[in-house]
Amino acid sequence: MFTATSRTRLKANASNGPTGPVNALTVDVEDYFQVQALAGVFPISTWDACEPRVERNTERLLEIFSDAKVKATFFALGWVAERFPQLIGHIAAEGHEVASHGFAHQRVDGQSPREFRSDVRRARQVLEQASGAAVRGYRAPTFSVGAHTPWVWRILEEEGYAYSSSIYPVRRDLYGAPEAPLSPYRPAGVTQLVEAPISALRLAGRSWPCGGGGYFRLLPYPVSRALLAGVNADAGRRGIFYLHPWEIDPGQPHVRSAPLKSRVRHYLNLSRTEGRLQRLLRDLRWDRMDRVFAEELA
Ligand SMILES: [Zn+2]
Repeated sequence: MFTATSRTRLKANASNGPTGPVNALTVDVEDYFQVQALAGVFPISTWDACEPRVERNTERLLEIFSDAKVKATFFALGWVAERFPQLIGHIAAEGHEVASHGFAHQRVDGQSPREFRSDVRRARQVLEQASGAAVRGYRAPTFSVGAHTPWVWRILEEEGYAYSSSIYPVRRDLYGAPEAPLSPYRPAGVTQLVEAPISALRLAGRSWPCGGGGYFRLLPYPVSRALLAGVNADAGRRGIFYLHPWEIDPGQPHVRSAPLKSRVRHYLNLSRTEGRLQRLLRDLRWDRMDRVFAEELA
């Protein structure tokens, strides 16, 4: 039986849920052997011989999101959808948005416009077939687009995509477009498509990454949360956070032959990510990309 005190406490908890703008929760659905940091160890020709773990790891994310009552956008590789169509179907059936991460995780700036068109077309077809829903969003592998690939957005629009979330407005060794806008914008050369950049903050003359990925594993949890809260506090901007299924999988095969920097980048704090993610889902508000940015996409 409730006492007056416990009733008061329950009421207080109910009203103490997260407040502030709704942020976009996104997952790049790829396996541990498909990441850029390990590309030298796992060329595409080896992928089919690797032990696949993307299905069970993504299913675990679906459980975590279901427990937290949160919906997300899953940018999935066509390569994964071709081999695990039931996984893509399950993502859609759970009420999440299925979007495209291209077909085979090749850097966009390493492809010709013609190759890029063929890659995003094939990925969209496979993903729509597996999900039974229209695919509207695209995310470039390794955020490998920017001022040096001005043709990307026009091709995406022509291929039926409504938005892209491929720009990371920071300076990094493998990617980055530090001069890009921080909020969703319409790139030159398109009439409808919107680019929604991964979250960053500009402070002290620098751009700071706030959108997760490796930084979520590197930084203490309160720092990651404060960075996203900082994005929300910056004129009410909505954050875009991303992670990968392999980041909650400390049991994945460890590749000793990869360069030290790649190993640090890939294996750091894998066992901590799941707990941190659960806290983040509780501490901020979340939804799928197409709903968070419904106004921009209308
Ligand atoms: Zn990726």
